Amino acid sequence: MKYSGDLVVAHPSGLYCPPGNFFIDPWRPVDRAVITHGHGDHARRGHGAYLAHVQSARVLRTRLGADIDLQTLAYGETVMLNGVRVSLHPAGHVLGSAQVRIEYGGQVWVASGDYKLQHDGTCTPFEPVRCDVFITESTFALPIYRWPTQHELFADINAWWSRNAEAGQTSVLFAYAFGKAQRLLHGVDASIGPIICHGAVEPLNEAYRAEGITLPPTLRVTDAAVTKDTLKRALIVAPPSAAGSLWMRRFGDYRDGFASGWMQVRGSRRRRGVDRGFVVSDHADWPGLQAAITASGAERIIVTHGSVPVMVRWLNEHGWNGQSFSTEYGDEEGVDAAAAEADLADQKQDNTNASDAIVPQDALDDNASTSADGERQ
Ligand SMILES: [Zn+2]
Ligand SMILES: [Zn+2]
Repeated sequence: MKYSGDLVVAHPSGLYCPPGNFFIDPWRPVDRAVITHGHGDHARRGHGAYLAHVQSARVLRTRLGADIDLQTLAYGETVMLNGVRVSLHPAGHVLGSAQVRIEYGGQVWVASGDYKLQHDGTCTPFEPVRCDVFITESTFALPIYRWPTQHELFADINAWWSRNAEAGQTSVLFAYAFGKAQRLLHGVDASIGPIICHGAVEPLNEAYRAEGITLPPTLRVTDAAVTKDTLKRALIVAPPSAAGSLWMRRFGDYRDGFASGWMQVRGSRRRRGVDRGFVVSDHADWPGLQAAITASGAERIIVTHGSVPVMVRWLNEHGWNGQSFSTEYGDEEGVDAAAAEADLADQKQDNTNASDAIVPQDALDDNASTSADGERQ
């Protein structure tokens, strides 16, 4: 049977599938929600029933309540919702993150949630899913956003940590507690010194370990093993909200760094008041967005959140039918997103005044910064 209507439409409560009568990552309470991943702007409280990837279960129950009505699927497993065929496929964003494939009446739509193409070893790598309509984020949809390789990133972080350790100074790395922190832990060279995690990070580490993801041993500041001497060589991983808090006092004269896609933009690091910015994001960079869109095979692309007008214009100039949905998704690092935009506007202004020069690449480093617990700020 043919169905010519749209399989996903923008509804005041969220992205809605009319024939299936379910929502994807709704922002208002609904009867049935399909959840792409556990970040706070996608997985909210109050829905009647939840459907998510099995590796999201622990995080969802911790964040939304142990008693939520949750059905889980493995990647590629299919469920029928009101006659609509629904399956989840790896998005490569954080543990358990999924693209939602919807098939009905001869059409296939994919809602990708948040995704990235770079494989970081802490979640199942992104897999392109062929479809007629692809719904994409566009958090970093500007040509300036290009991530360093995993190798370059960790060479930088390890060198910084080693240098601080040799000088007897604690290294504090601020990173979003769910996803970013575990990716950093997985990639750093744990032989440099002990690693101590903030109380907001450690429960997420446990969720990753429970799924078989290898993370180095981590301590809490309150552990007996943590002494003044330990701290001198230690790497502390803490959410951005810990910056400037009393919790930081114990580290004395420390060096700090911020791990975020927004760090690619000059000014983000200064505004955060940290010594170092490391460019690392759980979202696709500009080439990554283009690669994912191309690999979907879709002719029609619907852009949800981020640099929406830029992405839509680019799509329409390059042969796609680009549209947008207005949503209430943030990026986990919304404050930095707004600030980075302002910086870029300033830089454009400066450049226009000075000459017709292109904004230099090093001025435009951005990496996603994150909030403490994934709630939108
Ligand atoms: Zn996310
Ligand atoms: Zn998001």
